[in-house]
Amino acid sequence: MIIVLKPEATKKDAQEIIRRIAALGLKPLYMPGTERTVLGAIGDERVIGKLRIENHPLVERVSPVLTPYKLVSREIHPRDTVVRIGGVPLGGNYFAVIAGPCAVESPRQMHLTAQAVKRAGAKCLRGGAYKPRTSPYSFQGLGLEGLEILRDVAQRVQMPAVTEVVEVADVAAVERYASAFQVGARNMQNFRLLKALGQSRKPVILKRGMAATVDDLLLAAEYVLSEGNPNVILCERGIRTFETATRNTLDLNAIPHIKQHSHLPVIVDPSHGTGVRSYVMAMAKAAVACGADGLLVEVHHNPMEALSDGQQSLDPKEFVRLMRSIRPYVKLAGKRM
Ligand code: PEP
Ligand code: MN
Repeated sequence: MIIVLKPEATKKDAQEIIRRIAALGLKPLYMPGTERTVLGAIGDERVIGKLRIENHPLVERVSPVLTPYKLVSREIHPRDTVVRIGGVPLGGNYFAVIAGPCAVESPRQMHLTAQAVKRAGAKCLRGGAYKPRTSPYSFQGLGLEGLEILRDVAQRVQMPAVTEVVEVADVAAVERYASAFQVGARNMQNFRLLKALGQSRKPVILKRGMAATVDDLLLAAEYVLSEGNPNVILCERGIRTFETATRNTLDLNAIPHIKQHSHLPVIVDPSHGTGVRSYVMAMAKAAVACGADGLLVEVHHNPMEALSDGQQSLDPKEFVRLMRSIRPYVKLAGKRM
């Protein structure tokens, strides 16, 4: 529920109402504005009714949040959220590219790739240590050794590291080694994992499940925010449709839709979205043009040798071209990178 206070309400009045909200076991929100203070009460609708807050003399107006998600909604939080990965801002007017290999394979592979993406202008380094593969016979990632390689290389090239966490038991280790968690498409509705990540304050890049609606994605993000971690970045990475020409169908409709309904930053992964190296650049440009706040791009120093997703990974030269080609689109979108 959104509670708009009258202009004469003081901070003390707002605090008194917040205490009443909290006393019922609801989550209070405090959003001071230049003319009016807006409060929120999040939780069980039946309990919210008991507040009878509309009768308070300093309350101007009360309106329900109609969307199933609350904390991620723009109704509650009208301004764009900027999330910082390490020192790198993403969201609002800040655009950032996260690039690196699908999987961490060796110190040499990570180092060569990291240097290349850094030189081309990527701001964060990606690399999976725990790989959720469709087949149990595919390369599963180096695990803890991969996290160590990622951290060492990221420190050397001075880039914040992003890596996937696949289970609750690994959250603490990934938190120690990386600047941001990635939650993969296959885990988007692993609610125990989302709740565990809600206990951290490190950013969570939440990838859309391949059969998830945008509302499912926003509700998954709500799990993280409702546990106390406001630093969520949504990622469109393509969904399964009847189309088989490409690995997935990159749903760029989702970008303006999410932007309209949520304040969270949203990035696009054109690598998994297409599955085809030669389509990545076109979809990267399209993603920026339709309002994405960043990109997640797979790059390998030698894609022919990649242990996973080589077919969609750019080589360093192709990545330089991608970075050059998106620059005018970033500028046109009124963002900085
Ligand atoms: C990845 O980023 O390498 C990955 C496994 O992505 P997704 O979870 O979107 O399939
Ligand atoms: Mn991959």
